Amino acid sequence: MLGKMMREPLLVSSLIAHAARYHADTPVVSVNTTGGIEHTTWGQVEINARRLSSALAKLGVQSGERCATIAWNNRRHLEIYYGVSGAGMVCHTVNPRLSAETLIYIVNHADDQVLFIDRTFLPIVAKLRSALSTVKHVILMGPRDEEASGMLDGLQFYDEVVASGDADYPWPSIDEDLPSSLCYTSGTTGHPKGVLYSHRSTVLHALAGNSPDGIGVSARDAVMPVVPMFHVNAWGVPYIAAAQGAKLVLPGPNLDGPSLATLIDDEEVGLALGVPTIWMGLLAALRARGTKPKSLKRTIVGGAALPPSMFAAFRDEFGVELIHAWGMTETSPLGTLNQPLARHIHLDPQRQSEVRLGQGRPPYGVQLRVVDDGGAVLPNDGKSPGKLQIRGHWIVSSYFGAESSALTSDGWFDTGDIATLDVNGYMVIRDRAKDIIKSGGEWISSVEIENIAIGHPAIANAAAIGVPHPKWDERPVLVAVKKEGANVSEADLLACFKGRLPDWQIPDKAVFVDVLPLSGTGKVLKNRLREAYGSLLTGNTTESTQ
Ligand code: AMP
Repeated sequence: MLGKMMREPLLVSSLIAHAARYHADTPVVSVNTTGGIEHTTWGQVEINARRLSSALAKLGVQSGERCATIAWNNRRHLEIYYGVSGAGMVCHTVNPRLSAETLIYIVNHADDQVLFIDRTFLPIVAKLRSALSTVKHVILMGPRDEEASGMLDGLQFYDEVVASGDADYPWPSIDEDLPSSLCYTSGTTGHPKGVLYSHRSTVLHALAGNSPDGIGVSARDAVMPVVPMFHVNAWGVPYIAAAQGAKLVLPGPNLDGPSLATLIDDEEVGLALGVPTIWMGLLAALRARGTKPKSLKRTIVGGAALPPSMFAAFRDEFGVELIHAWGMTETSPLGTLNQPLARHIHLDPQRQSEVRLGQGRPPYGVQLRVVDDGGAVLPNDGKSPGKLQIRGHWIVSSYFGAESSALTSDGWFDTGDIATLDVNGYMVIRDRAKDIIKSGGEWISSVEIENIAIGHPAIANAAAIGVPHPKWDERPVLVAVKKEGANVSEADLLACFKGRLPDWQIPDKAVFVDVLPLSGTGKVLKNRLREAYGSLLTGNTTESTQ
């Protein structure tokens, strides 16, 4: 016999329907691409999302098909999240900071039918348009704009598309296991891989991830995701805020410290979320201004390790609690979040800070384990580092378009991170198995850099490593070996990246060595290079690998 309870599918549309039903007047604040502030409400966002859903059907987009966005955090992007997924299509958020080649690959691989773009990204999309072979409609997120019209043939305008839609469009009841959104992760090897979230995984993440010891948003909060909506669905905050009826503040393109400090005060933001680089900028702005933020109580920091000095600075100088969290594109993203247990409350402040600096413990819905190279499970003793593996309701099972499973034979996802776990489930990332470089919370592929460097006529071999940087967490540095008899300067070598990589992915420095340290199997030992050049961008190099 089965249980005798109603079966309501867990759908993304149910989140916005709830917000519209019970929190219709609650504000959604949006900084536009041009910098102006727009105030709308959950009720209005839902109406526009319904209109968009019906308009997409009129454009001929079928359920299950992908509609991509290249956009900042703003209210139209929010309406697209709900309008696309609510209608049963898949909202594919594309990272605008990718190289042109990767962007083309991702859009074509996803078989995107529609491309919604912010005005900022029109020039790049106009340039790439002919290569985006699957895209039938490019829709500029704004009102009609004649100048923009002249830049791209067939360009449509979001406000007109929405106006043509039906505000009474009923959200369809669909299978909760169908896909709702898609986000690509870029690996060090091969092409980026797509993670296809389902309605069920998204709703469970929005509910369980928002427990009091999780993201912890309530209807009394004003919450601001500074983390981009193109980066793992802004960590689920657009869904969480709707489920709770919280005020949502979307900061648009202005992510510098002074702009954020002003927006936080003006909109009485109590909780903000983002990568450490963002909080570095805010900290500098608050120090320059010399006053505490009026409303900000908590920030959730993830995507890269939380620097210890930042934790203390926010707490002691500004009374803001930094909460460390860890996750990945493949984990929706919440894997762990650092809130203390009852047993930690009475620890002395020093010891308590030590606990809080780690990546935290899993909420209900995910489990973690660490294993050795042979796959044997290691003890949760806080000191045995191993490959971090995860399973749960919102963890990837296979990549978009892939035949094979992404899991181990016993059903866990290997994160590629090296971590320890303690007896209470607190996890600390010890190293990154991957060699990807993280600059300002965004990936830079070391392989892409190396491929270009090695293509230089004067270069025999090269390795790119992430070197700690005071502002960007890490910046790429190239370690290169010249071909015998060849002569090339650092400036000449760095010049070969111009136009082949986005400017922010170009290494900050190149250093020349006679040989690269190699492992037995001929792989460059990047850990050695990181040790040798770890202080290159912050101080003097202590030793040489030569
Ligand atoms: P992404 O898929 O772009 O979100 O990147 C996920 C990766 O970022 C993880 O596998 C970690 O290597 C790294 N990461 C995320 N959060 C943290 C954190 N709090 N501390 C250290 N590394 C982190």
